[in-house]
Amino acid sequence: MAAEISRRHFFKFAGATALACGAVNAEDLFGHVPSASAAVLEVKAKAFKCGILKTQTQYMLKDTRVGTPMDIPVTFFVISHGKDWVAFDTGNNAMVAKDPVAYWGEAVTKAYYPVMKDYEEFQVQVQKIGLKPKDFKAVILSHGHLDHAGAIDNFKGTDVPIYLQGKELEIIKKAVATGERSAYIPADFAAIDQLNIKPVDGLFDVFGDQTVIAFPTPGHTDGHQSLFVKQTNGKALILAADAMYTIENMRDAIPPGLAMNIPTATQGLYVFKVMSYIGASVVPSHDPGYWETKALSPKDFEA
Ligand SMILES: [Zn+2]
Repeated sequence: MAAEISRRHFFKFAGATALACGAVNAEDLFGHVPSASAAVLEVKAKAFKCGILKTQTQYMLKDTRVGTPMDIPVTFFVISHGKDWVAFDTGNNAMVAKDPVAYWGEAVTKAYYPVMKDYEEFQVQVQKIGLKPKDFKAVILSHGHLDHAGAIDNFKGTDVPIYLQGKELEIIKKAVATGERSAYIPADFAAIDQLNIKPVDGLFDVFGDQTVIAFPTPGHTDGHQSLFVKQTNGKALILAADAMYTIENMRDAIPPGLAMNIPTATQGLYVFKVMSYIGASVVPSHDPGYWETKALSPKDFEA
């Protein structure tokens, strides 16, 4: 009996270790034996750039190189899972390419001046890989800020579910109710009642197979989330969004220049660092140097 228990414990421990290393998936270990006919679905990511924001270093890296100009890319992702497609963030609204000061307002564009072309808008870019908004299985929003949720209006009138943390939805609703423009632009959410918004609380396993999982990373905003993507090539991506603007934030534990909760945001950076030690590629949202070297859509993203 004792031998049986310790043997079972050994396998449990070995299994958990293998799981953490990405060697196997939990279902193989703790659940059902996968059927021989179950097809392995290919999971990979494509990255997109939606123009740049002209800003200053201290807005990205708190109290760092104050006053130094910094041009940061705006990014969003499309993940393929077999034949299904999921968007992670959407970039700026189409209006930003036309008249940014009119759309975002003077105060916002003073700190973050966007330079964006019409063809960098979400819908125009995904069309180039053969997708229309209605073709998406889901949209995951990291948070409601203007450079992440700006093009969510593309999903107006579709039944594509849009997942965000319930806490973030509350913040968005409050921001919209004030009518004032901040990092949340009320006009971005003008059609919110015509969107299939699905608030989630905590971890959200998009396909139920542990390959694409949204998880809370509060700090930058209280309802911020990042996306774990376990690609079929074995490489785990952590699409941090604004929980990690740049690699320097993580490397030197420098909190973001703007955050609802600075200590919580900094804690998140420590967690990302440890994730990188165990082999995950933590992907920053706005790091100019990092993104200069990365392949964009239609090429597959390689961390
Ligand atoms: Zn951002």
